[in-house]
Amino acid sequence: MNLKKIRKCEACASYTMKEEHCGKRTKTAHPAKYSPEDKYARYRRIEKGIETG
Ligand SMILES: [Zn+2]
Repeated sequence: MNLKKIRKCEACASYTMKEEHCGKRTKTAHPAKYSPEDKYARYRRIEKGIETG
């Protein structure tokens, strides 16, 4: 998977793919709990739990 994360510049309130905007570091626009990657990581953890236990 090659999804790019949308980031937000707090200085000018615009969305960007870049890690820096207006000379400041941007923040991820989406909360971690809604991230698809986080969801997959959770499934992976469950799989691992089944393997070990
Ligand atoms: Zn900006």
